[in-house]
Amino acid sequence: MTPDGYEVQYARSLGIGYAKKFVETIMQLLEELQQQSHPSDGSHPRPLQIIRTKNELSTCLKQEDTIGAILHFEGAEAIDSNLKQMEKDLAAYYQKGLRSLGLVWSRANSFGHGVPFKFPASPDIGPGLTHAGQGLVTECNEIGIIVDLAHLNLKGFMDVAKISKHPLVVSHSNVHAICRSSRNLLDKQIDLVADSNGVIGINFCPSMIRPDGRPEAPETPISMIIDHIDYIVKRIGIDHVALGSDFDGATMPDALKDAAALPALVYKLKKQYELDGLDALSEEFLDKLLYKNWQRVINDTWK
Ligand SMILES: [Zn+2]
Repeated sequence: MTPDGYEVQYARSLGIGYAKKFVETIMQLLEELQQQSHPSDGSHPRPLQIIRTKNELSTCLKQEDTIGAILHFEGAEAIDSNLKQMEKDLAAYYQKGLRSLGLVWSRANSFGHGVPFKFPASPDIGPGLTHAGQGLVTECNEIGIIVDLAHLNLKGFMDVAKISKHPLVVSHSNVHAICRSSRNLLDKQIDLVADSNGVIGINFCPSMIRPDGRPEAPETPISMIIDHIDYIVKRIGIDHVALGSDFDGATMPDALKDAAALPALVYKLKKQYELDGLDALSEEFLDKLLYKNWQRVINDTWK
């Protein structure tokens, strides 16, 4: 803890051998989950499907019982930084279903620098993408893999904004003007996401939501999450904000512990907007926030 917040040191770097083994195991587990949820007698109530194409996504969205999963790596440590080998690695992972890639987690790697968790702090920590990092963005564009900018530092973000031909995607970060966490986005980053027709997925973690940045705060109300949604809507419109949650990666507020609590968020959203006397909260806005903005960005990026 620091006098006005907290600071976490950089996580240690990972070797490519360890990272490759790790993602192989995770991919295997995902395949097994899919198989186990499709027993031959058709008895499983909620089949899980790994989504690899735009068609599979739109079909899955129409089937209420199917849980769709999109394979994403948070950090590109399992990919070789040598350009030739990088192409091979990426093609092999694509073959196995990889459709979204975060260049970094909150550590430095051969491609760029993530931000260490810190409050209050600007995301302007460390240098931009390495040569290999720039190559990886181009290669992802080429194959049709989403490049995720959550965890990336400001200079790296600006490099991707310059290089990438696809919409900018920040899967789980919030508004820095409300909560001055190093993980959150400055206004100029939010504007660049809008310029690229991209999307920001709102993270529900209290330390990235609360104006006081307090990390252990399970009492954090849903209204504080809505403040971030509202800020983005007022600044750049209803086409660039979605849900990012971070259910699997952070401590959640008691009011929004898992996906089963999402109806409570929708209910609060409706209430809050009614009370504000705004009619912006049409069905259209809710659809966009809950899935259509994600679907648009995926359709604009995947081949
Ligand atoms: Zn994360």
